[in-house]
Amino acid sequence: MTPNTPSLSVPKGLPVARPPGLPLEAWTPRGLYVHLPFCARRCPYCEFAVTPLRQDVERRYLAALALEAERRIPPAWRPTTLYLGGGTPAELTGEGVSRLVQILGPAAQGAREVTLEANPRTLLARKLGPLVAGLGVTRLSLGAQSFQAKLLAGLGRFHRAEDVTRAAVLAREHGLALSLDLIFAVPGQTSADLERDLDATLALEPAHVSLYNLTFEPGTAFDKRRLAGELVPQPEERQAELFDLARERLKAAGFLHYEISNFGRPGQLSLHNRLYWRNAGYLGLGNSAASHLKGERLSNHRDVADYASALERGELPIAEREHLDPDAKVRETAYLALRTSEGIVPERFERDTGHDPRVFFAREFARLCEIGVLQDRAGRIQLSGRGVSLADAVARELL
Ligand code: SF4
Repeated sequence: MTPNTPSLSVPKGLPVARPPGLPLEAWTPRGLYVHLPFCARRCPYCEFAVTPLRQDVERRYLAALALEAERRIPPAWRPTTLYLGGGTPAELTGEGVSRLVQILGPAAQGAREVTLEANPRTLLARKLGPLVAGLGVTRLSLGAQSFQAKLLAGLGRFHRAEDVTRAAVLAREHGLALSLDLIFAVPGQTSADLERDLDATLALEPAHVSLYNLTFEPGTAFDKRRLAGELVPQPEERQAELFDLARERLKAAGFLHYEISNFGRPGQLSLHNRLYWRNAGYLGLGNSAASHLKGERLSNHRDVADYASALERGELPIAEREHLDPDAKVRETAYLALRTSEGIVPERFERDTGHDPRVFFAREFARLCEIGVLQDRAGRIQLSGRGVSLADAVARELL
């Protein structure tokens, strides 16, 4: 295998049978996700599996991650993409960074894309350097969220706009493609606020922008405040207006709107996330990490201690397994494809699932086209402009 060539062979140690109707390329794991759960503190809207950084916890966690990598990464397997997410991977101590490089270095060799998530306030050159040198990081995904003090405070973020600029400079100095995350539809946010955030975003010339509307996930501090009437989410129509504003600005600036929440400059679209949207195979390591292998979805223990204990006992840290029945898999593949600007490409869909989408979804497509949220033209089935704003409703119809 030459570097930069995706492996289509079945890595030793990974499942070898494949569901009927699925071609090899659609399920062989090509992406590796690694969850690093440490954050300086939990943001009030966040529902991810995170924990404060403590050196003893970090040591135990990385020892467990090494065991999991040894058990689940076959020696000859070289993923096409590696995504270091969390949590905040760049929050690791210097010792933790060296250990992570030891654990993942061999698998990362030859990966075409290696993404590192970072917090603008805590990204340091002395940690970024070894990660770039040791794991071949190519992209930095920076949680900017906003550039305005009042919105950052409202989101409970502790970084400032200057931190984002400093981290962007650091990314450039290390030759990394910069991806910025922005959050919109924050309570009280006006169109002018969003325009200012987009101005600041574009001024940093990122290669990629991810745009998320603020959600109130059950159990989060924000959701409790919503239930207590202290926080009022922006109405859905207002969220759609803000999204349209951002979408038009980014498109006018030369970005391709290639997935509902994602915009990239040509040639800078996230390869790793595209694996998810193709419903392709991937392996996830770390607490709460999900994998999609052999038509099964596996989820690791969410709690750091449960995750580490399982590995220390010599067990795999898998908490849940869901075998996707073939019908659910076809529906899921359609839904994921419709989230992308490419939409459903019928020939590819048939190759991947064994079904002609126009036949399988004849009733659903007819209804969705009739109400104007779906369009079937130029050989592709895609969401219409209106459908993009109503993607969740389309998903419910298909799933
Ligand atoms: S930095 Fe990111 S992962 Fe960590 S708590 Fe905040 S939103 Fe969650």
